[in-house]
Amino acid sequence: MPRPISAIISIPALRHNLAVVIETLRENYASVDREPPFVWAVIKANAYGHGIEAGVAAFAQADGLAMLDFSEAIRCRELGWTKPIMLLEGLFDPDDIATACQYNLTVVVHSFNQIEMLKAATITQALEVMVKMNTGMNRLGFSPADFSMAFQQIQDLVNEGVVASAGAMTHFARADDDFLVTKTQLELFNRVVPDAVQRVSVCNSAASLRAEVLPYLPVATDQWVRPGICLYGSSPFSTRSAAHLGLRPAQSLQAEIISIQHVEAGEGIGYGHAYEASTPLRVGIVACGYADGYPRHAPSGTPISVEGVETRLLGRVSMDMLMVDLTPIPHAKEGSIAVLWGQNGPSVDTVAHCAGTLGYELLCAVAPRVPRVILNNDEDEAKHER
Ligand SMILES: *Cc1c(COP(=O)(O)O)cnc(C)c1O
Repeated sequence: MPRPISAIISIPALRHNLAVVIETLRENYASVDREPPFVWAVIKANAYGHGIEAGVAAFAQADGLAMLDFSEAIRCRELGWTKPIMLLEGLFDPDDIATACQYNLTVVVHSFNQIEMLKAATITQALEVMVKMNTGMNRLGFSPADFSMAFQQIQDLVNEGVVASAGAMTHFARADDDFLVTKTQLELFNRVVPDAVQRVSVCNSAASLRAEVLPYLPVATDQWVRPGICLYGSSPFSTRSAAHLGLRPAQSLQAEIISIQHVEAGEGIGYGHAYEASTPLRVGIVACGYADGYPRHAPSGTPISVEGVETRLLGRVSMDMLMVDLTPIPHAKEGSIAVLWGQNGPSVDTVAHCAGTLGYELLCAVAPRVPRVILNNDEDEAKHER
C-alpha cells in the first residue's frame, strides 16, 4: 500500500478558472472599447505543481502557454499543443536555439548576452521574440536606457531572417497592491516602447483582474496577458479571496488519519512539546508532513478539515506526519480523511497565510512522492465526492 496521501488535481476547476479570467478580461476590455487580449496561461514550475499534462488538458481555450523550462515546452508539444509557447526567461545557452527552432517556441530576450547568442546562431526557422524591459521590478529586462538599442538589434535580426517578429513585454512588481507603482511602470513602458510594436505583454494575474490598468495599457493591437496563480484557484490579492473572485481550488492535498491518541491536560504533543493540552484532547495523526510539502512553519491552530468539519493543527509538523485536534469530531476515526487544503477544506491561501507564505509556494512545493489523482471531468469529480 502506498502512504494514504494524495494531491487531487481537478481539470474542471482549472478550466473553470481560465473561463472566469477570460470572461473578466472580455467585460473589462469591452468597457473601454477594446478587443479582449490574448491569454498566455502560465504553466511554469510543472503548472504550479498541478502537472504539465493537466495544464495542457485544461487550458485548451488559452491562446498560448508560458513557462521557463525547455523540457516543459517540449512536453507540451509532445502532448499536441500547437498554439504559441513562450519561454519566460528565454535562452540559457546557445544550444537552446536549436530547440526553440525545432519546437517553434517564442523566446523572451532580456539581456545583451542573449542577443549575442542569436547573432551567432545558425537558424533553421526564424524565432518569435519578446524583448523585455525592466520598468521597475528590477529582476529581468533591459533598462529603459538600453531598451531602444536592444530592440534595434533585434529588428536587425528580423531583417536578417533570424527573428520572425519582435514584441515588447515587462513585469509588474506590485500589481497586487499599490496601483500607483503599476501605473508608473506602464507610463515608462509606453514612453520607451515604439508605438509601431504590434505585440505587447504586460499583465500577470493581479493586473489581468484589475480594471484600473485599462486606461494605461499600451496602444499595440496584440495585447497578451500572462495569468498564472489565479488559474490554479489561488488569489493574487491578500485582500480578496479566491472564492470572492469566483475561482475554484484546483489542487486539494488530503491524507488519512493513521492513528489516534488521547492526551490529558498538561501533556505536550509532538516534537518540542510545542503544543501543551490545557484540557483532555483526542488527537489524530495525519499521514502528511513537511516532506510532502505541508509547511513546517504552520503553527498550532492552522485550519484542517476532517469529515467535513474544520478543526486545527496541533504542535509542530513532523517530516511525515502532523497532528490534528479531533476533539470536536467524535465520529472521526482511523482512515478518516483530513483535507489540508483545497476542495472541502481550508483554502491554500489561508494555510499559506498561517505559515507566513503564499499559496504560490505551497501549490508548487507538493513533493514528488505525493501521488497525483487527476479528476478529468465532472463525473470524476462527482465520484470523488462520494
Ligand atoms: C510567473 C509569471 C507570471 C504569472 O504570474 P502570476 O502572479 O502567477 O499570475 C507572469 N509573467 C511572468 C514573467 C512570470 O514570471
